[in-house]
Amino acid sequence: MNSEAEYAVLISKGKVLIQACRGETPRLPRPDEVSLQTGPSMDGRFRFGHPIDAEAIAVDEGSVGETMPTQEWTELRASASIIPAEHYAAAAKASELLFWDSTTRRCSVCGAEMVRHTEISKRCTGCGREIWPTLSPAVIVLVRRGKEALLVHAKTFSKPFYGLVAGFVETGESLEECVRREVKEETSLEIDNIRYFGSQSWPFPSQLMIGFTADYASGEVRFSDGELTSGGFFSRDSLPQIPRPPSIAREMIDAWLEGRIDSQTRPANNPQE
Ligand SMILES: [Zn+2]
Repeated sequence: MNSEAEYAVLISKGKVLIQACRGETPRLPRPDEVSLQTGPSMDGRFRFGHPIDAEAIAVDEGSVGETMPTQEWTELRASASIIPAEHYAAAAKASELLFWDSTTRRCSVCGAEMVRHTEISKRCTGCGREIWPTLSPAVIVLVRRGKEALLVHAKTFSKPFYGLVAGFVETGESLEECVRREVKEETSLEIDNIRYFGSQSWPFPSQLMIGFTADYASGEVRFSDGELTSGGFFSRDSLPQIPRPPSIAREMIDAWLEGRIDSQTRPANNPQE
């Protein structure tokens, strides 16, 4: 494949191509390790320098010529526990950029074609409107009551685990107001002492998860808005099944289990967590 980037991020329907040479840590392939049968136009490609020097390309699995036995298409989320953290971060960024590209081919105001303006912006060929990749911020909160934590099951969860209350930030509200509203709407509880925990890019497809901790203040748990189906306060020795890594929900639950919530010792700069 023709590219001056150090690594190639090939994305096909939520999967990323991984190179796993014997004796080496699995990683993203280098451009000369990939053969593309048909070259996508520049509109389907993004070059970026952070977190690693890479070129992102949207492909169909079928358009990649003979994959070497050392190469494998892997679900993006699963790749997080296989390839180095920086490579996963690059794959996640590539996935978001390519999703944005594929969903903004035409201007939403005048309907004309959108073309690449800078490396990460597009401009409308009709009205000149300029757009950048969008993010949907969502809060996620671990509510404590004494030695217990509030864990809930939402009907949108794909597995029978219990996670944390979460929801998208609405126009016109602060993150803290969103935390308070989501907990109230989804569980009827009032909370206090809302504190920032950490954040996580969640590229499925374009979310930013912002984690908070809070303390129970008053109320009885009631699931009235239909998003949650069950849950309640659990102690450390009566935990239900919890989310698997990499998710900020799991990271926050682990921090609580290990008594680290109060010390706020989340390691910075770790995109896998
Ligand atoms: Zn337009």
